Amino acid sequence: MAARLQRMSRLMLKTLREDPADAETLSHRLLVRAGYVRRTAAGIWTWLPLGKQVLENVTRIVREEMDAAGAQEVLLPALLPREPYETTGRWTEYGELLFRLTDRKGADYLLGPTHEEIFTQVVKDQCTSYKDLPVMLYQIQTKYRDEARPRSGVLRGREFLMKDSYSFDTSDEELAESYRLHREAYVRIFTRLGLDHRIVSAVSGAMGGSASEEFLAPAAAGEDTFADCPSCGYAANTEAVTFPLKPAGNPLGHPPLQELDTPGTPTIETLAEHLGVPASATLKNLLVKVDGEITAVGVPGDREVDLGKLAEHLAPATVELVTAEDFTGRPALVRGYVGPQGLAGIALRYLADPRVAPGTSWITGANKPDTHARNVVCGRDFEVDEYLDVATVEPGDPCPSCGAGLRLDRAIEIGHIFQLGRKYADAFGLDVLGRDGKPVRVTMGSYGIGVSRAVAALAEQTADDKGLCWPDEVAPADVHLVAAGRGAQTELALELADRLAAAGVRVLVDDRTGVSPGVKFTDAELIGVPRILVVGRGAAQGLVELRDRRTGEREEVPVEAAVERLA
Ligand code: ATP
Ligand code: MG
Ligand code: MG
Ligand code: MG
Repeated sequence: MAARLQRMSRLMLKTLREDPADAETLSHRLLVRAGYVRRTAAGIWTWLPLGKQVLENVTRIVREEMDAAGAQEVLLPALLPREPYETTGRWTEYGELLFRLTDRKGADYLLGPTHEEIFTQVVKDQCTSYKDLPVMLYQIQTKYRDEARPRSGVLRGREFLMKDSYSFDTSDEELAESYRLHREAYVRIFTRLGLDHRIVSAVSGAMGGSASEEFLAPAAAGEDTFADCPSCGYAANTEAVTFPLKPAGNPLGHPPLQELDTPGTPTIETLAEHLGVPASATLKNLLVKVDGEITAVGVPGDREVDLGKLAEHLAPATVELVTAEDFTGRPALVRGYVGPQGLAGIALRYLADPRVAPGTSWITGANKPDTHARNVVCGRDFEVDEYLDVATVEPGDPCPSCGAGLRLDRAIEIGHIFQLGRKYADAFGLDVLGRDGKPVRVTMGSYGIGVSRAVAALAEQTADDKGLCWPDEVAPADVHLVAAGRGAQTELALELADRLAAAGVRVLVDDRTGVSPGVKFTDAELIGVPRILVVGRGAAQGLVELRDRRTGEREEVPVEAAVERLA
């Protein structure tokens, strides 16, 4: 914990009047200007004294609540061997998101982006019987992801601080309980942090597993969009909004849709014959129903599909999924569906594409004007190309649960909880001895909080045009004491600072000489400590001014009353 009393005359702090040129978001601008963080490289940040204190306060709250929930703190390495990630396939699946390195002997390593593999190994080593479970482990540790677009300061870093925890249970019911404990701990954490947050359904993506929810902090700077139903309370990341499938009609009006009744794999010849076109034809839209499923390949605008090329992709269509490298120009899976408006749509999922974040769900599209891909965060998940005009779920789209019109909002993902199930336990053969003496496969959960991101999210939600404006528990001090004059006033300010610190109040005192009161006030507002105490002209009469940073309210009070109020 930082010292109770900090003197600005000695603090390494340089505030800036101008916004950094590259800063796009409020938190980025203000955290840099107020001297909390300093950019070291793209997505890599140095935490300066005030910033480190705020980060530490967030960390402390997270730690207290994780401990209270019964989780045990550990610390795993960030530098990890390749093999366990090879075992689960994530060495490949993560693509360019992974920082990879080689040691002097030529062995491959990575910098951990998340630690499911290593925790599974730890528990396999440490826990052998059902009596050793359930166990919940967590760490607060630096993570590494070579994000395609590190931006917004510490909101999206390539190096960032995460609290990640993992639960290990022997039954689905126990897993549900560990998940519930985490969910409740997260609500307490974000409430204590003073973060306005929503819990929404999410996609599990590369993490695998079934149930998954995100904690989102509504903010304009957020890169996520969530849909929210004012009528029934349904809330989901737009990535996770799934509309019920409807049976296909012939929404496109192109070759009338008929059942293609060929046993086995459709060939280009049977297709062409069925459609009454030469096998060399190109078609604007094609809908195919295979094995009882609609497999639709739609082409936006007047693009055409070469039947000959498509044929290669139809071969595996008997298993519903069609590879469509030619269609998208990249390795992808295509799945057909019929969208909420009864329109034929396509679903794409890019494979091993560095521009696609791991965990990106199916990108779905409906053939209505200007809507060819849904549920993607454009620019984050991939670059828009000419095939894909991007639209997300639109406001007013029917709520999948009750049909009322959905609302959409931007938000920052601050936490994510998953019921992983047995994916990792299967990969590593993680069993414990059960009550009956037989081995039981362990089931897992994984739970993350973006600790450094939470600092930026808080700044986004609480700052105003004057600067940062921290909630009490997170602020680097309880009181910012401004010595607005010289000599006697500075003496009084320092004396007051000592008294407050002795009473347990965290004080930041601006005792700088040669700095005008105006500059001190501007800095105090920029730095964002919740209460500002001014020792100025009134000091001669034993009066000081108490200001509320958030409301701007000012009140002149006797020194003793101020001490009493603050202590
Ligand atoms: P995002 O969708 O923003 O890329 P994610 O879904 O990839 O995040 P998770 O794998 O769920 O992230 O990681 C758990 C938490 O770690 C996230 O909820 C988020 O708060 C935080 N986090 C993830 N990536 C970053 C990053 N690049 N910088 C800062 N915090 C991050
Ligand atoms: Mg990500
Ligand atoms: Mg995410
Ligand atoms: Mg996530």
